[in-house]
Amino acid sequence: MEMPCCPHCQSELVRRSKRRGFVERVCLTLLFLKPFHCGDCKRRFFLWLRVGARLGAIYTRLFTSAESSSQN
Ligand SMILES: [Zn+2]
Repeated sequence: MEMPCCPHCQSELVRRSKRRGFVERVCLTLLFLKPFHCGDCKRRFFLWLRVGARLGAIYTRLFTSAESSSQN
């Protein structure tokens, strides 16, 4: 499996994270989201690996746009 970069710091030190709790497990499974954990900035994020990197990249943009609102 191809490992993604961290959407926050672009680090490649990402690891698969465990789903926490029943709600997260069910929701992520239904949405085909995989939880990851960044080894550099220690943040968690979710990516769609199942449907390809393109959708994952779109989600990453949406996810990060909330914090870096300087774009557009
Ligand atoms: Zn990071």
